[in-house]
Amino acid sequence: MSDQYDVVVIGAGPAGYPCAIRAAQNKLKVACIDEWKNLDGSYAYGGTCLNAGCIPSKALLESTELFHRAQTEFSAHGIKVGELGFDVATMQKRKAQIVKASTQGITGLFKAAGVTGLQGHGRLLSGNRVEYTAADGAKKELVAKHVVIASGSVPMELKSVPFDGKTVVDSWGALEFDAVPKRLGVIGAGVIGLELGSVWRRIGAEVVVLEALEQFLFMADQQLAKEALKHFKKQGLDIRLGAKVDGLDRGKDGLTLKYTDTSGSKTVTVDKVVVAIGRRPYGKDLLGDGTGVEIDERGFVKVDHECRTSAAQVWAVGDVVRGPMLAHKGKEEGVMVADLIAGLVSEVNYKVIPSVIYTAPEIAWVGSTEEEVEKTGRPYKVGSFPFMASGRARAMEAPAGFAKIIAAVDDDEILGVHIIGAMAGELIAEAVLAMEYSASTEDLQRTIHAHPTLSEALHEAALAADKRAIDFPNR
Ligand code: FAD
Ligand code: NAD
Repeated sequence: MSDQYDVVVIGAGPAGYPCAIRAAQNKLKVACIDEWKNLDGSYAYGGTCLNAGCIPSKALLESTELFHRAQTEFSAHGIKVGELGFDVATMQKRKAQIVKASTQGITGLFKAAGVTGLQGHGRLLSGNRVEYTAADGAKKELVAKHVVIASGSVPMELKSVPFDGKTVVDSWGALEFDAVPKRLGVIGAGVIGLELGSVWRRIGAEVVVLEALEQFLFMADQQLAKEALKHFKKQGLDIRLGAKVDGLDRGKDGLTLKYTDTSGSKTVTVDKVVVAIGRRPYGKDLLGDGTGVEIDERGFVKVDHECRTSAAQVWAVGDVVRGPMLAHKGKEEGVMVADLIAGLVSEVNYKVIPSVIYTAPEIAWVGSTEEEVEKTGRPYKVGSFPFMASGRARAMEAPAGFAKIIAAVDDDEILGVHIIGAMAGELIAEAVLAMEYSASTEDLQRTIHAHPTLSEALHEAALAADKRAIDFPNR
């Protein structure tokens, strides 16, 4: 017996579950299959993001930032506290509660929308049939008019430093430490390396970050990257650039990481290692014979700009397809596909996907970097505003960083916005909206920003692009 559906979604991460909900909102009959299991063996919806990514990392970043601020900022406010202490078990318990509330929320959302949630493994067979294997091994065949693959990604392994789940861990392992490692080695100064390195540094670990590339945050505007590196070094993150890790020795004194930089072979000895060198698309036992779904040489499911695979009425969204591995990118793709299946008009504007790194200061950007704009040869102008000139930032004891806008000289269109500073991840939303509407700096200049707010930095940066800033000398 097979069950018939309009849409079957494989994967209930931030790409799959919104796709299922929107498809149900579009009056389609939907099932969503997910196999995520937590460390205690229980199933949970939400994928990497909710269980072992965005949400738990932000919970730990919040706890440790508060501790750091209590240590470094309270005295400036006249707040006197006794000796500060930190209880890792309490921090972890709070994180686990936040994760549980978020993942259980999806069960409720599925119920409210009328999505059939199925926990277990999904495998696409030919003819748009999906084999569903439940926890007890029982198999069932679902027949779907449309199938959406949203199977996500997993951490990449470094062959010379293999995971052992205890001392050499991936990002999930680094979110679960039950004590502060005395010496922590992080391989990769990407988003995960910087966020999780910051978490454990703030509560006492000596953190060494080894990054293969000479350039710090190569994907970011380099003015932003330079400012970020300065702050991270001040916080005690020992970031070593051009350091390619190629081996590990285990000894009495700990784990000795071997790496090569321009001056030759080097070592550093630590107690735990986090490998954060990127993620790869996940597709284990996902495709049966004859599905017609093509995979590229790096393991991504091949799709067009509307997330159609090479097989009729099979779609793929999120980390398993090209583009940045970000939860909000996957969500928009999932929603777009659900609308396209229902015959509605929909698209994802890949040019305005914001990026945020949740360190302190936060780093956020949207659109092109100055280096990218320069390469196009199109004349451009830049307006910047430092947070130290913002009354609100000073009142918040958060004067670090700046907002920077890059715009075209010919028609004033905003081409890129780059912010480093407190709440940069929130502030960037205004820039995303502006760019979504192809706004000019004049549009931002003429928009009233409440005083005193951090958002005034964006307003002033837009004015500065035409040398009309009020609260900072124009250059
Ligand atoms: P996933 O979230 O990986 O979900 C895929 C789901 O499909 C999983 O539950 C998996 O078990 C299931 N699945 C796979 N194959 C099958 C199958 N055959 N049958 C049934 N189920 C299957 N992104 C941000 O935008 N902001 C952040 O702050 C952020 N922080 C992060 C922090 C960390 C530590 C990590 C690791 C990632 C972070 N990310 C962040 C990235 C974000 O988690 C991913 O981009 C996002 O989870 C991708 O969503 P997805 O739905 O494509 O895949
Ligand atoms: P990443 O691609 O951001 O960074 C990996 C880094 O490791 C690179 O800088 C690379 O040069 C370096 N590297 C690779 N091999 C190395 C080696 N042998 N020795 C030293 N360095 C080496 O990957 P990530 O930090 O693992 O994150 C994975 C994905 O998760 C990213 O695509 C990111 O978008 C997503 N993520 C997003 C957020 C966020 O949005 N705030 C947070 C965490 C993760």
